[in-house]
Amino acid sequence: MSDKNKIIKCMSCNRDIEKEIYLLNLQVCPYCNNHSYISARERIQITTDENSFTEQNGNLSSVDLLKFFDLKSYPDRLKEAKLKTSLSSAIIVGEAKINRDEVAVGVMDFSFMGGSMGSVVGEKIKNLANLSIEKNIPLILFSASGGARMQEGIVSLMQMAKTVSSVRRVMEKKIPYISVITHPTTGGVSASFSTVADIIIAEPGALFCFAGPRVVKQTIKKDMPPDFGMSERNLKNGQVDMIINRGEMKETLSKLIRLFKG
Ligand SMILES: [Zn+2]
Repeated sequence: MSDKNKIIKCMSCNRDIEKEIYLLNLQVCPYCNNHSYISARERIQITTDENSFTEQNGNLSSVDLLKFFDLKSYPDRLKEAKLKTSLSSAIIVGEAKINRDEVAVGVMDFSFMGGSMGSVVGEKIKNLANLSIEKNIPLILFSASGGARMQEGIVSLMQMAKTVSSVRRVMEKKIPYISVITHPTTGGVSASFSTVADIIIAEPGALFCFAGPRVVKQTIKKDMPPDFGMSERNLKNGQVDMIINRGEMKETLSKLIRLFKG
């Protein structure tokens, strides 16, 4: 491996980071604390106990209800996303343990069609919520999404109502539901299940808003504050409850689960 391959450039502060250090630091910049993308599978690996994750609905995959075609057909886009990510949809859900406590956990992956929410994301969240209720175990959902899946039209918009009613059923049973916001969480996901949790945790610097600053600026013709929609501003405004570094996420979730248990 050449030296070039051993160095990662931070997208935020532009400094060179040794790849090994970067990976050990869970893909967080050691200089500026920029939290960059990690895949859903990596996220599960660093957040749950070793080999404790059992996937649910692993093969569930979207169908092309509307025969949708933009520059490519929807089936072609799905095929590409599956090849690129080795996932069957934009979310992985299942049962796992966090410091030996059982949880129902779902993690979205932004690299699968921008983490867009279509019928499969909605169905998997509903089934995960059912698992949480059946087993009386906390529900934890990690969000990363550009919003609704346009290729599924109205069906994707319906997932907002479906996911909200699913997580509400969990909370009505007095089972804790924790939402973890990762960069970016916008559109229909920010306007549905990710926002109605008992506790909302965000990673540092994550964009969490309905429309991004560029779109808002185009619409209202005003400059947005530089921290618009960011975790730090959302914390100040009460939109999120805490900001937690990736390296401390597992321990924080574990403490919260035990607090609820107590
Ligand atoms: Zn940096």
